[in-house]
Amino acid sequence: MSKQTKFLLNESELSTHWYNLNADAEALGLDMGPVLNPKTHEPVTPDDLAPLFPEALIEQEMGTQRHVEIPEAVRDVYRLWRPTPLYRAHRWEKELDTPAKIFYKYEGTSPTGSHKPNTSVPQAYYNKEAGVKRLTTETGAGQWGSALSFATQMLGIECEVYMVKVSYEQKPYRRVMMQTWGASVTPSPSDQTQAGRDVLARDPDTTGSLGIAISEAVEKAVQDPDTKYALGSVLNHVLLHQTVIGQEVLKQLEMAGAGWPDVLVGCTGGGSNFAGFVYPFLEQHVDGRDKPRIVAVEPSATPTLTKGHYAYDYGDTARMTPMVRMHTLGHEFVPPPIHSGGLRYHGMSPQVSALVHSGVVEATSTPQMPMFDACEQFVRCEGILPAPEAGHAVWGARHEALKAKEVGEEKTIVFNLCGHGHFDLAAYEDYREGRLEDYEYPEEEVNKSLADLPSVST
Ligand SMILES: *Cc1c(COP(=O)(O)O)cnc(C)c1O
Repeated sequence: MSKQTKFLLNESELSTHWYNLNADAEALGLDMGPVLNPKTHEPVTPDDLAPLFPEALIEQEMGTQRHVEIPEAVRDVYRLWRPTPLYRAHRWEKELDTPAKIFYKYEGTSPTGSHKPNTSVPQAYYNKEAGVKRLTTETGAGQWGSALSFATQMLGIECEVYMVKVSYEQKPYRRVMMQTWGASVTPSPSDQTQAGRDVLARDPDTTGSLGIAISEAVEKAVQDPDTKYALGSVLNHVLLHQTVIGQEVLKQLEMAGAGWPDVLVGCTGGGSNFAGFVYPFLEQHVDGRDKPRIVAVEPSATPTLTKGHYAYDYGDTARMTPMVRMHTLGHEFVPPPIHSGGLRYHGMSPQVSALVHSGVVEATSTPQMPMFDACEQFVRCEGILPAPEAGHAVWGARHEALKAKEVGEEKTIVFNLCGHGHFDLAAYEDYREGRLEDYEYPEEEVNKSLADLPSVST
């Protein structure tokens, strides 16, 4: 084996189509169940979603066409950073003294530093095509808000971001990025919406929450025919757009002469980077190749896939979003303040949930201390500083590499390093200075919020 370290594709090898898992749901034994209207409990219709999303995205959300063509204008923006590199972790393998070969796909080379522009760009494009003037969204720490601000600027529409107030005040750098890309950023709750004013009347000093910010962004979109809403994870069309990741990995593993992988590892918040990385391998599997072991890693402080219920639940605290069948900790679940902001969601994509429920995908979890330990070791070998979210995949890959060492097997392990952690250095500092704790799975809290699951007869 040569010491070749990175496997690069040309722009001419950019994907031309996204892969839609819904087309192969039956072949994979998945039953997602219908998406339900939160008020009527009837299956949602395209009309229910029309105030929020343009027709093309609703079609992608509900469609079963196996391949969806990527518009040229979207591919032109993708060219700014795609195809992204695949690396072989030679130094880390040596440090771990493992017979395993470890490869990682690196999505941190995008302008915003993560995989999220893979979907914010097409979402901005289809809205622009539909004549929409403005997109609203919510953001916590700012990763999704940055991705949408960048994309709307590229496509020439406006962007309004509701940013959870505590992050707006304590994490100014992503806010400045969003504003520099031309977005307007409002601390949430705000006095610009009824949802915000209601919360402020009850609790003027509230620090805000993602649930409230979602309610504000949705309210703004519903009220104005020129304004729509964009979501950065969970939904089928978001996962669809992310499949460019795995399609490139397939080609790059072939370039590397790596053979068919034994294990794929990714981290899961709402499921989008994980899905985008692994779905193209599932497509190959449906077409007759072996299925690698596929492992989803989540924080043990928000153990959606490993300890949540598989049931119908709302996507948000205010119960405004449709109900979907998914792994959930309950829409009232208040996550503990761990450092992986992007992984603190109470629910999970219905597709990824169904994959875990049917046994196609395994799920596991780690506390944040071992996760940062794996990241620090990874940085010292490979040089790239992972986002704490991506750190869960780093931890998972190390776990697999050490298992391979125990049994002396030369496994091929591939993981998705979905973003860099340059805006998360305070977390790394807390880790280095011994200020981090491992939050225990808050069993009582979860049971309390699971008691509030909507009852749905299906
Ligand atoms: C947003 C984000 C996540 C979580 O979202 P998924 O939809 O699960 O991918 C994970 N990692 C990074 C770097 C993110 O920005």
